Amino acid sequence: MAGLLRAAATWGLFPWRSYCSRGMQGELSKGFVEALKAVVGSPHVSTAAAVREQHGHDESMHRCQPPDAVVWPQNVEQVSRLAALCYSQGVPIIPFGTGTGLEGGVCAVQGGVCINLTHMDKILELNLEDFSVVVEPGVTHKTLNTHLRDSGLWFPVDPGADASLCGMVATGASGTNAVRYGTMRENVLNLEVVLPGGQLLHTAGLGRHFRKSAAGYNLTGLFVGSEGTLGLITAATLRLHPAPEATVVATCAFPSVQAAVDSTVHILQAAVPVARIEFLDDVTMDTCNRHSQLNCSVAPTLFLEFHGSKQTLAEQLQRAEEITQHNGAFRFSSAKEAEERSRLWAARHNAWYAILALRPGCKGYSTDVCVPISRLPEILVQTKEDLKAQGFTGAILGHVGDGNFHCILLVDPEDREELQRVKAFTEQLGRRALALHGTCTGEHGIGLGKRQLLQEEVLRPVANDILVPSLSSDLLQPGEGMVIRLQVTSQLLFVRSLEPKDLSMANMSLDWAQVHSEHVLQAADANQWK
Ligand SMILES: Cc1cc2nc3c(=O)[nH]c(=O)nc-3n(C[C@H](O)[C@H](O)[C@H](O)COP(=O)(O)OP(=O)(O)OC[C@H]3O[C@@H](n4cnc5c(N)ncnc54)[C@H](O)[C@@H]3O)c2cc1C
Repeated sequence: MAGLLRAAATWGLFPWRSYCSRGMQGELSKGFVEALKAVVGSPHVSTAAAVREQHGHDESMHRCQPPDAVVWPQNVEQVSRLAALCYSQGVPIIPFGTGTGLEGGVCAVQGGVCINLTHMDKILELNLEDFSVVVEPGVTHKTLNTHLRDSGLWFPVDPGADASLCGMVATGASGTNAVRYGTMRENVLNLEVVLPGGQLLHTAGLGRHFRKSAAGYNLTGLFVGSEGTLGLITAATLRLHPAPEATVVATCAFPSVQAAVDSTVHILQAAVPVARIEFLDDVTMDTCNRHSQLNCSVAPTLFLEFHGSKQTLAEQLQRAEEITQHNGAFRFSSAKEAEERSRLWAARHNAWYAILALRPGCKGYSTDVCVPISRLPEILVQTKEDLKAQGFTGAILGHVGDGNFHCILLVDPEDREELQRVKAFTEQLGRRALALHGTCTGEHGIGLGKRQLLQEEVLRPVANDILVPSLSSDLLQPGEGMVIRLQVTSQLLFVRSLEPKDLSMANMSLDWAQVHSEHVLQAADANQWK
């Protein structure tokens, strides 16, 4: 099948070239829309304004015009035919998961066709002995865990929203459990991807689900965090984990942000195998108390969770309590019952909505930076001071066990001046993270919001004209037969950071069709990337 699809795209089996051309927003011809309908069926194509509007944004404040059409493919063959059709006409393709992104990744900067993948929602294969599962792109992380409930296994990556698992692959998502179980990067074993021209690629080889490999470049890793710029992910093979035998949650309040973050660092340094360690500042605690009927102190707080046997849990809990008390914690309490634990985590996961309630009618603008743990205290303390000094309504919370935190600012979308100040604040925060050897995004991705910062993070340290030739040199490992040139990745960085994102799928004419083997790709002509 993959060969057929590849050949179809390469040999131009989809002769729609005369129907429209890229860049003519809102001008998809009737013929092109008919061609979309011929692939997925009329009920699965919409050009209605309300539907396009609904697909023109995610949960963030980033806005641009909506896509020209929305389509709902039912299977991978249809995705492939849609991609080939759009590609042959130069029409931008925007993959759409559940639209919970926070950086405007689904915005149709140049119009085009939004491919909503939620109708492909099957759990295709569960390998209990191999701790792996294969899911279609419409399956969300909550649906998967409900399905796994009696299996003794679970999938731990848990962004606050019930996002699609392939959208989570696309954004390199993580969540509260990442400190122990890793992010999507560590939990994806293989991906089925439809490339821009319609070709099908299995990044680790068809059906493979090994835990480790030294066989060349990590093609799977290239697609994690690619945000729809390289292809449409139509299936993901994910790594599962044994469900913990027992769980206990603890909360503790601190006299200062510094004391809470110092405790985080000390707990990690003491090698306490904490499963979750979340920071909530006083503002977040106050609003969570009201929104979720908690009775916690209004102070910088840590929510911790431990997994293990009953005996090891008692040890972990005791060690964490000692460390936090040493740092001045004044209210350490634990919850063993499932109901009480769920209540606390539901409050944490609903913190975004609780914070939104602080300023009715306003929107939330979420920042997302990540720094080395040792630099966490200074950046958090500084950010808290900046928030106060600039008079913003906002709160800080985050996955501090990974050095990752968010500052959520509330802004009146009609107030341009305030919006500009918020943007300036978030850019300054991103730059501060870079200066502390961190990254401008720990988990929300680049989308529209972080393109400038990505350039500063990845490209500025090396002059552009030096970077590409040096990375793409044939002198690197000559004769090794590894034909995925570093050129590919360096060119990707340029496309990702210099061009509007949604140009990418249709605009990149890198000839992905030349898939020589499961692991070997060749960039036919890097010049065509411009
Ligand atoms: C309340 C709230 C809390 C959140 N908490 C977290 C958190 O703790 N951690 C975290 O990481 N994120 C968090 N997020 C952000 C969001 O949930 C994640 O970014 C999530 O991974 C997005 O998945 P999605 O399916 O909604 O993707 P979408 O928003 O639909 O798309 C995101 C990007 O991925 C691309 N894409 C989507 N599906 C595919 C596909 N199948 N193939 C190729 N490209 C695709 C899109 O084109 C777009 O660029 C939160 C969001 C909200 C609203």
